[in-house]
Amino acid sequence: MSESCLFCRIARKEIPAGIVAETDGFLALRDIDPKAPFHVLIVPKAHVASLNDVKDAKLLGEMMRFAVSVAEDNGYAKSGYRTVINTNADGGQTVFHLHLHLLAGRRLGWPPG
Ligand code: 5GP
Ligand code: ZN
Repeated sequence: MSESCLFCRIARKEIPAGIVAETDGFLALRDIDPKAPFHVLIVPKAHVASLNDVKDAKLLGEMMRFAVSVAEDNGYAKSGYRTVINTNADGGQTVFHLHLHLLAGRRLGWPPG
């Protein structure tokens, strides 16, 4: 938990966000600047700054399973989707609270820029 962290504040419902799904441990919220027709962020409610800081492997498994359920519930499991975690400067991380991007709804290019 971090007082001023954006995603902690969203998790505490201090800042509104387009929440599409929620469990005890996670939120799925619409990215404010979507890069695909469906672009949500899978956010653990507990503060972890980046993938480098994850101590609990179970958290990652639960985060991935939740992402799959959100993809399924929104109709993208069969057509496909991409899951991405950006880490630190070269990875393009801009919000330092762990999150998994879930992108779907168009054919995504590879490799990423
Ligand atoms: P990163 O660049 O750290 O991998 O991803 C951070 C993401 O958070 C970006 O895609 C950015 O558009 C999104 N974002 C930044 N500020 C907000 C916000 O206030 N609300 C929501 N829903 N998304 C945000
Ligand atoms: Zn946080």
